[in-house]
Amino acid sequence: MRHGNLFVISGPSGAGKGTLVARLLREIPDAWASMSVTTRKPREGEVDGVHYRFASPEEFQELVDEDGLLEWATYGGNCYGTPRATVEEHIACGDQVILEIDVQGGFQVRDKFPSAHLVFIEPPSLDVLEARLRGRGTETEEAIATRMETARVELSRKMEYDIRLVNDDLDEAADELVRFVNEQAEGSRG
Ligand code: 5GP
Repeated sequence: MRHGNLFVISGPSGAGKGTLVARLLREIPDAWASMSVTTRKPREGEVDGVHYRFASPEEFQELVDEDGLLEWATYGGNCYGTPRATVEEHIACGDQVILEIDVQGGFQVRDKFPSAHLVFIEPPSLDVLEARLRGRGTETEEAIATRMETARVELSRKMEYDIRLVNDDLDEAADELVRFVNEQAEGSRG
C-alpha cells in the first residue's frame, strides 16, 4: 500500500481541471477527490452532494467558525472551502487526496501541509481560455469578464507551484498528471 499524499490542482476556470481530475480518478485506484462546500448557486446539471455541497452563507460561516475547513477562499463573490475531516481521514488511510481549488486555497494548504504537491493547470493561451468559458454557455458576460481577470491573477502565481501542465492536448496533459501523482505516491511508499 502507498502512503497518503495531498495534491492541489489549481488553474484558471476553463483550463480543464475538472476533466483532468476525472481522468486521474479513473486511472489511479487509490486517488480520492474531496468535495468542496460552496455558497455559489448550482449551475444547470449540478447536483448537491455530487459536484459540490451547496450551502447558505450562514452554513458556510458556521463551518469556518467551528474550524471545519482546511482552507477556504472567496472566488467571484462566492465562498468555497475544503472540509477538513474527510481529507484527513483519506490521507490517513493511504489515499492520494486531490483538491481542485483556487490558488488562494492552494497556498493555505501548503502552509498547513508543507508536503502537499501543488500542480498548476495552464490553458494554452488566454484567448483559448476565454473561448472555452464562452463555449460552456453557463456564464454571463459579466461572470466571464470576472473569471478572465481572476485568470490573469492566478497565472501570475503559477511559478510558485511545484509543476505546471499546459492543457493543450487533453490526453497528453492527463498522462503527465497521472505520471506525476504516481511518482510522488511511489516516492512516499513506506
Ligand atoms: P466554479 O465556480 O467554476 O465551480 O469554481 C470556481 C473556482 O473555485 C475554481 O478555480 C475552483 O477550483 C475553485 N474551488 C472549488 N472548490 C474550492 C475550494 O474548496 N476551495 C478553494 N479555495 N477553491 C475552490
